[in-house]
Amino acid sequence: MTWFHRVSLSLFFLAVLNAQTSPGRILVRAGHLIDVRTGNEPADQTIVIEGDRIKAVTPTASTPAQPGDKEIDLKSMTVLPGLIDVHTHITMDTNFDPYHELTTDTARQALNGARFAKITLEAGFTSIRNVGAAGYSDIALRDYINAGLLPGPHMQASGPALGITGGHCDDNLLPYEFHETNEGVADGIPAVQHKVREVIKYGADLIKICATGGVLSKGDDPQASQYTLEEMQAIVADAHRLGRKVAAHAHGAQGILFATQAGVDSIEHGSYIDADAIGAMKAHGTYLVPTFYLTDWMQENGHLPAFYQQKMTDVSAAMRVNLRQAVAGGVKIALGTDAAVYPHGLNAHELEVYVTKLGMTPLAALQTGTINAAALMSWSDRTGALEPGKWADLIAVASDPLQDVRVLQHVPFVMKAGVVAKDEIHAR
Ligand SMILES: [Zn+2]
Repeated sequence: MTWFHRVSLSLFFLAVLNAQTSPGRILVRAGHLIDVRTGNEPADQTIVIEGDRIKAVTPTASTPAQPGDKEIDLKSMTVLPGLIDVHTHITMDTNFDPYHELTTDTARQALNGARFAKITLEAGFTSIRNVGAAGYSDIALRDYINAGLLPGPHMQASGPALGITGGHCDDNLLPYEFHETNEGVADGIPAVQHKVREVIKYGADLIKICATGGVLSKGDDPQASQYTLEEMQAIVADAHRLGRKVAAHAHGAQGILFATQAGVDSIEHGSYIDADAIGAMKAHGTYLVPTFYLTDWMQENGHLPAFYQQKMTDVSAAMRVNLRQAVAGGVKIALGTDAAVYPHGLNAHELEVYVTKLGMTPLAALQTGTINAAALMSWSDRTGALEPGKWADLIAVASDPLQDVRVLQHVPFVMKAGVVAKDEIHAR
């Protein structure tokens, strides 16, 4: 090969590279847009996208297409930011048979995650926060999605949830002779410090802990505190110093209060929240993640073993009363579903019950799954609203969700980071 061939070959590859890295703009022509901060719905707007980001949002009349631009016609649709669910179990499936639970090993969890990430994205959820998975299967899933190897939402993942021996985050199904302990179990201050550092070592974006007992675990009490105040203070100190937020599963009022005083960033579930806990959460700016639709779904579809069923009945009844008080009391809310407790892809049903049963306006409900969720995840600079500089994460629906949020249960168009993930509008 002569020098001339070498040079022309390099120029050829440069040209190919250039064509791949500057593919022109995408112009999304929206009938209406929703500004989730104000509830304004301007008509005939264009979202200008370059690469994975929103470059500008401008009136369509003043945004003609340039050579090389690609236009997406959503002129009959309402366009809004991709939704965010801050409480998923993306590697788990909906099955309450204890033997099924015991045999869902790490490999099966990873494969579940690959299935459910696609389903969740196609339901309009362009970001999720996964709170608890075995064997770092959620970390692997996140990395595969980020590398473009699997379709799925942007993800933050916790790896195994931290909890006490015999607590909600331990495995309590087998008798003593099997010596089964969940990988997130850590008791006492040095042990929890070590465990926080360990899960961060293996890739956790946040720390999930069990502050109280839970429903879908054998032999513990949702109202009883599990981690002590001192243990949670140690967890939060290490997590925050290392740049990670802490999400605390907590049903009982004392556990909510201890976790809040320890400085966790969100209370998950919050079923028995009382006036003291509401006051403390407001003072600390702690988010509440209600996971509320599951109480409806379980009532209709859940077939639980006896040792889960009574707890589910009691906790659901408490949630229906107390979460409404928390919303009325002004606690910050971020949308979370506990998806896996009910089938992945039904996540948007959470918005409906926030309106019909927790007393939110449709706009307030939409904010829990956009700007509030983004703030809790420290992702306000990259998602949660259709604004320049943020990821081009958007969905389109046939009618106005601020009139009826149920339209978000059937999302026909999804774009994540400038790439169309689902399009039933132009496929027709
Ligand atoms: Zn959960």
